[in-house]
Amino acid sequence: MGNNGFRVEHRYLELPDSFYTRVQPKPLSGAKMVCFNHKLAEDMGFSASSEEDWTAVGAGRELLEGMDPVAMKYTGHQFGVYNPELGDGRGLLLWETVGPNGQRWDWHLKGAGTTPYSRFGDGRAVLRSTIREYLCSEAMHGLGIPTTRALFMISATDPVRRESIETAATLVRVAHSHIRFGHFEFAAHHEGPEAVKNLLEHVIALHFPHLIELPEDERSRRWLEEVVQRTARLVADWQAVGFCHGVMNSDNMSIIGDTFDYGPYAFLDDFDAGFICNHSDHEGRYAYNRQPQVGFTNCQYLASALLPIMDEDSVRKSLRRYETAYNERFLQNMRDKLGLAREDEGDHSLIMETFSMLHEHHVDYTRFFRGISNLWSHGHAPVRDLFVDRSVADAWLGRYEERLQKEDRAHDEREYAMRGVNPKYILRNYLAQQVILEAQNGDYEPMKKLIKVLEKPFEEQPENEEYAALPPDWGKHLNISCSS
Ligand code: AMP
Ligand code: MG
Ligand code: MG
Repeated sequence: MGNNGFRVEHRYLELPDSFYTRVQPKPLSGAKMVCFNHKLAEDMGFSASSEEDWTAVGAGRELLEGMDPVAMKYTGHQFGVYNPELGDGRGLLLWETVGPNGQRWDWHLKGAGTTPYSRFGDGRAVLRSTIREYLCSEAMHGLGIPTTRALFMISATDPVRRESIETAATLVRVAHSHIRFGHFEFAAHHEGPEAVKNLLEHVIALHFPHLIELPEDERSRRWLEEVVQRTARLVADWQAVGFCHGVMNSDNMSIIGDTFDYGPYAFLDDFDAGFICNHSDHEGRYAYNRQPQVGFTNCQYLASALLPIMDEDSVRKSLRRYETAYNERFLQNMRDKLGLAREDEGDHSLIMETFSMLHEHHVDYTRFFRGISNLWSHGHAPVRDLFVDRSVADAWLGRYEERLQKEDRAHDEREYAMRGVNPKYILRNYLAQQVILEAQNGDYEPMKKLIKVLEKPFEEQPENEEYAALPPDWGKHLNISCSS
């Protein structure tokens, strides 16, 4: 297994029994290691000298000493409706490890077979959706946005029925925590105040140690405030990069503010404020422009779950942090994207008008911001060319350059900073789709290549220019299956 420089500490098992069920993984056939994240393994404190050593673990055929797999119990609001039946339906928490730098990692084997919380599901994950999760979690990490990570994935030969018959795969997803808002909803609505308190103290001890010393009342209030703040900032980061999550149910909200659960997600190509990436979201509940509000609604669900142990006034006060935290972060993100270091009273309207223009003229979101990060060096053409009506681009550029005159930074300095926040490479849906098709034919090299490109989304990679291209017509409105 190489050198395991981590120690095992399965702290989740310290919670009351009702929070989990011990379940053994159900083995898969014909397992092959298809992608292993060596850099991440190193950060976690180990090196996989031979990737194949991990195949049996990924296939659910073998457990390492210290692994004690459990399905976590949680509930949550799905599309606004409370569902008490949730829990890990196809994934198992194998163990927790702590690396030499003190970082804790939960190892979650996704696609490991049924559990008591599977309801009608088969407990499996298909190759297509597993690749999508691997790609996007690593792309998000490259963008500097908090996220769960992909340690390795396995392909198998077992057939899995979705819209058609596909094949099974598993992912070892790692995160500092797999605890969701829905864990608190479960505790509050089914277990009682003691359980909520237990869970809260567990989360604070492991992930908010700076709050431990505070008096109890203040500790809970400050904790909720921090979770609310992290959630608000996370969503502001999604908005700035054009990320649409697609299933913002409260069981998919991480208590530490990671991007969690990569299902039908998408990055915007042409800017469309009301974009809906989840084909089963008929009402557009989780449309791109609704995400900030939904983030708040989820914080309200979490806040309600704390009422058994916190006074209503403190809960309300903590919740109020959402709006300020979101607005501050979003404004800062947009100022950075536009390269505005000085504050000017017209900035807010400039930002809003920029969005309206991108929406109205269906402008490619990523290329636009990358384009204005190179105006001085590459000229106006790359930006103008994104518009059918060039006069719209010219009018905007005129106004923008006027605004830039109020800036003190040198052009090259400003544009250098802008290129550090406006990615050149993002995980467009069609790029994911292409590597999935190759992988389904047994070639994983294109997937690995794409991951490498997305590791450095802000850097110019002249040899990989094609990955920054506009989507081809076939790739613009892909009707990708959301089933996973
Ligand atoms: P999601 O929509 O991905 O957030 O999943 C919602 C719930 O359904 C979670 O409790 C999952 O564990 C469960 N689930 C999703 N897919 C399956 C499956 N194929 N088998 C069993 N449970 C599943
Ligand atoms: Mg989920
Ligand atoms: Mg999911």
